[in-house]
Amino acid sequence: MKYFSTRDTSLKLDSAQAIVRGLSKDGGLFCPDGIPKITDDEKKFLISATYRERAAFVLGKFLTDFSEEELNSFCEKAYSTEKFDTPACAPVHMLDEKLAILELWHGPTCAFKDMALQMLPYLLSASLKKTGEKRCAAILVATSGDTGKAALEGFADVEGTKIAVFYPKDGVSKIQERQMTTQSGNNVYVSSVVGNFDDVQSAMKKIFSDEEIRGKASENGCIFSSANSINWGRAVPQIAYYVSGYFDLLASGKISEGDEINVCVPTGNFGNILAAFYAREMGIPIKKFICASNSNNVLTDFFRDGKYDKRREFHVTNSPAMDILISSNLERLVFHLSGNDDKTVVKYMSKLNEDGAYTVSSEIFEKISALFYGGCCNGEDTLKTISSVYSEHNYLIDTHTAVAVNVYNRYVKETGDDSVTLLASTASPFKFADSVLSALGIDINQGGEELLNILSKTTGAKVPLPLSSIFEKEERFLNTATREELPQTVLKFTNGEI
Ligand SMILES: *Cc1c(COP(=O)(O)O)cnc(C)c1O
Repeated sequence: MKYFSTRDTSLKLDSAQAIVRGLSKDGGLFCPDGIPKITDDEKKFLISATYRERAAFVLGKFLTDFSEEELNSFCEKAYSTEKFDTPACAPVHMLDEKLAILELWHGPTCAFKDMALQMLPYLLSASLKKTGEKRCAAILVATSGDTGKAALEGFADVEGTKIAVFYPKDGVSKIQERQMTTQSGNNVYVSSVVGNFDDVQSAMKKIFSDEEIRGKASENGCIFSSANSINWGRAVPQIAYYVSGYFDLLASGKISEGDEINVCVPTGNFGNILAAFYAREMGIPIKKFICASNSNNVLTDFFRDGKYDKRREFHVTNSPAMDILISSNLERLVFHLSGNDDKTVVKYMSKLNEDGAYTVSSEIFEKISALFYGGCCNGEDTLKTISSVYSEHNYLIDTHTAVAVNVYNRYVKETGDDSVTLLASTASPFKFADSVLSALGIDINQGGEELLNILSKTTGAKVPLPLSSIFEKEERFLNTATREELPQTVLKFTNGEI
């Protein structure tokens, strides 16, 4: 299988090259030139396979320049019980007969980003070797909170790599911030940036495509790479948990062979839900994708009328990992649904860049609206949903998952479609303990650690070890940069000054 760019289909790269480069030079995202199908024999294997086996299977289908042994060994390490608190890695919890919660937060940072970022360092190290790259891979990450910590945890002290993480000051939760500022490792750097997530992400994208900065970094012995969800090495491991969730439902008899399911995902950069789209293309019978947004509801509008318009107010919400106005991975969906038409994508993306908006053709919109339902939920309703799920099911969900549950409920009410739905639960409720506690009606004026203990006492749930331990560690990184300073900061990072 080869990879081309959403903005240039004349490229023919191996997956290792696509993973090393992260983003294509033309600004496009790497995509496979075909999507592998799951055969009937493979289905028989997958239904009784372990999570690691299912993940290795999916990786093998897309990363054809990696050997089976390589991928098996990566999966054993990345999805080991040292890293995940359950061997199922992504277990399914039935909230009722119809709603299956796919718990994606059992990894070392308690958010779904671990599912991909525990794997990416192995893929990237091996890809560097395969492509004959001698320079150090300098991973630059713009994060709205969860990616940063998960990437730091994945890359810390991985040979041949170093990682710098930038997050919007005042745009992440206290616990998220402390998770990052206390990160250990000799190859890590963390800084906050003045601005919101889109500001940070745009600044990073600029650095990536700036030939002069790339040249200077190269003189410092570094090549830029990304761990953001635009990297293909992030996308593939995410496909695996939708495949796994589907076969879990089948194995447990919650659905029968041939039944279609729906998938509901709390969405920001569109990476997670896009992985479900690839799972469907592989043959997993998914009828509808329910795309849930918070008050930053640019996608909700897009799925309603085909116009992507980022010219709107940016809201800081209680589901901060979804506070995004430019959902980068949407470009891949538009590319595939346009019949892999790079020229169309270039046209839309330059419109987005110049005017802040684009409208897809009616052909593309027809396909999109047949597959996707968009909905959004404000902060107050997010808290109400946490409270009602807890009182009805004695089950705690975080704010991001609550956005999805809220939109799911509305979808069922509006359409009457009550097919079994796999709903991606993207963070442990403890990670957003302040909001969860206020949803449960508990007054809070304490700092981070106390919050975790109060939530634990109130609900009887245990504080996850990766979260309780950050309060014993010292904060190592208390830097703040402006956007203008970022290129300089990045260069200092590549030459080892910081
Ligand atoms: C990153 C994140 C999301 C959004 O995922 P995308 O792939 O960016 O759409 C949702 N919830 C949580 C908790 C996250 O960390």
